[in-house]
Parts: sequence; structure tokens; C-alpha cells
Amino acid sequence: MRRRHRAWARIDLTAFRENLAVARALAGSARVWPVLKANAYGHGARRLALACADEGVERIGVGDSGEALELREAGVRVPLLVLGAVIDAELPALLRHDIEVGVHSEGRARALGAFARKQGRLLGVHLKIDTGMTRLGVLPEAALRVARTIASEPGLSLRGVMTHFAARDGMQSGRSLEQQQSFQSTITQIRAAGIEVPAVHGANSAALFSGLRPLGDAVRPGIALLGILPHELTAAHTLRPVLSLHAQIVFLKDIPAGQAVGYDGQWIASRPTRLATLPIGYADGVPYRLGTSGQASVLVHGRHCPIVGAISMDYCTIDVGHVPGIKVGDTATIIGQDGNECLGAQKIADVAGTIPYEVTCSIGARVQRVYHDTASSPADNRTRAPLPAY
Ligand SMILES: *Cc1c(COP(=O)(O)O)cnc(C)c1O
Repeated sequence: MRRRHRAWARIDLTAFRENLAVARALAGSARVWPVLKANAYGHGARRLALACADEGVERIGVGDSGEALELREAGVRVPLLVLGAVIDAELPALLRHDIEVGVHSEGRARALGAFARKQGRLLGVHLKIDTGMTRLGVLPEAALRVARTIASEPGLSLRGVMTHFAARDGMQSGRSLEQQQSFQSTITQIRAAGIEVPAVHGANSAALFSGLRPLGDAVRPGIALLGILPHELTAAHTLRPVLSLHAQIVFLKDIPAGQAVGYDGQWIASRPTRLATLPIGYADGVPYRLGTSGQASVLVHGRHCPIVGAISMDYCTIDVGHVPGIKVGDTATIIGQDGNECLGAQKIADVAGTIPYEVTCSIGARVQRVYHDTASSPADNRTRAPLPAY
């Protein structure tokens, strides 16, 4: 089959919908509010958000105001929550588009309330409690005071109280248990003071998939819905990866033993072999560290082909000397399955010395996202102008 793209990420929206169903089953009576920040971890927030709307999701979490507005522009009417901090310049647009924000301090609660009142509008807020992540949020001892401020501020509407867990292995960490206890007692305190809390939410993917209880009214998984989770977490095996990353071979070259390859000649052929050049480099999200690791490969014709030489900005080279019959135009798989072999984002992260979140987030804008969904028509893929020939 002739490929239309140099490099592309295949996004399986059916897998996304299935992962959402797995999360919902695990969450029981708690709602699942998908987190689609950073362009849905590189997968494309717009299409995933539309799929969420389709699946009846009640709320979506995003990373910043710009992401929320982008989803509104794309026609996503689902309530949106900016999980991170917002800056003053963003407030008018947030109010206009009815986007909810997290509140992290007393001063912020007052300022947001005053601003909303001046505009004659109501701002939906979620009070964020810092139970141990130590990034954003009100400390538990100050939570009741800030909750009172929000409840008594006519410009604000308290939609939820939230926290965020720090441990990558979720409830397998003692730290998570401490966070959970602190969160629960803070909620009890706020409710005992007669303040109505419409939704309590804490769990990220790791907490949800490692048995957090109680889950509260909603959970906020991100990466699990993309089918990526550490294998040791409960039910992780029931998820399917949503993204695979591919490039077509654009050039083949036979080289003699002793030939130095790429910048600084970082790899030297120990035998005569054949190299294939892929039009995908570190600007497209192939980690530079893969080239220097000496342990990275991509899949072609279902076989591992080592990445050789330094990864360039736009290209990388692979050794295909052991795979017969390779042609220009054949598909190389950087992330994903080919035949019986599979390269997951976690595996790539391990080799590159990073985390799978960074691997998928780094997939660049030049990489065409190609969406597959058994529940929609192929015309939906025409979302981006064709690439110029270069
Ligand atoms: C990113 C994020 C999540 C989702 O985290 P995952 O590990 O991807 O499940 C949930 N809540 C907050 C506040 C976040 O920033």
C-alpha cells in the first residue's frame, strides 16, 4: 500500500473508547473525567474530546486555558476543567466560554470571585487540596477557610474539591495512603461545616488502577485511557495502546564495514550492511537518547532493526542488513506492533531514560495524526492541510 505520509501517528479511537469502558467499570459509581492535557499527551485532544462527548463523558480535564478554548472552538460542549494554574490575562475568555478552574489559594479565590462578579458572571471552581504532591493547592489545614471563602463568594460556584497523587505506583506507595487519609479528613471537615461539595475527585490513572478506595465522585485518568500503564498495576493488561508511530523508508544504502554513520560518526559498521533512512527525527519525537543508547530498534517487516548513529532533527538511520526484501516506501514502526513484535511507549521510555508520558507528548506537529474509529467515517481524517513536498 502506498503511504500518504512521511511520518504518522495512528490513533485508534476504538481502543480509546474501550479503555474508557475499562476505566468506567473499575470506577464503579464514580464518574470518569478524562484528562486530555498537552494535546491528549500528543494524541490529539480535539478528536479524543469529541469521542468523549460521544461516550457521554460529563467533564474533561485540560492543562491550561488555551487547551480549553481550543476544545470549545472544536465544538466540545462538555464541561471543561483547567487543572493547572490560570493567569489573569486568561480570565475573560474562560468566563465567556464557561470553563472551570482549580483554585489553589485564598487570595486567588477572592481575586477570581471579584473578577467574575465584575463581569456579571459565575465562575465554576474546584478547590485543590495539596495533600503531598507539593505543587499546587491549599494545604489541608487551610482548606476549610478557603472553602468558606468560595462558598460565600457570589461570583464563584464550588463544583468540586480535588487532590492529586504523587506516586507513580499509586496505592502501592505508603505516601498515597497518607495523601488519601489527609484528603478524606479534609472533605469530612468541609462537609461538616455545611458546605456543599458537589464532587470529590482525586484518582489519576495510577491510583484508579491500583485500587484506591473510596474513589469519591469522579476519577481523572489520563495515560491509562491511552492504554499506557506500568504492568504491575491491577487491570493494566486490560488496556489497549491507542497510539502507534510510523515512518516510511525514504532511502536505502549499502555501506562497507568501517563506514561511520551520522553526526560525529557515532556508529561505525562492523560488517558490510544495508541502512534505511527514516524521515523522522528528534523534532518529531524520536528521543535523541535512543541513538546514543546503542539498544534501540524499530520494527520493519516484523523484525527489530537497530537504530544506528545519532538521531538527527529530521531523520534517523536503521540497520536493515538482516531483513531481506526491504524497499523504499516500506513502513517502519517506532512505537507499536508489527507482526509478533511490539515496541511500547514504556519500553522506549526505558531505553531513552525517560517516562512514557514524555515519549508521546514529544511527538511533533509534523507527524500526521491519522485517526481510526469504527464509530465514524474516514472523511473525518481530513483535518489538516497536506504536507508540502520537500
Ligand atoms: C495529569 C493529571 C491527571 C492524569 O494523570 P495520569 O497519570 O495521566 O492518569 C490527573 N489529575 C491532574 C491534576 C493531572 O495534572
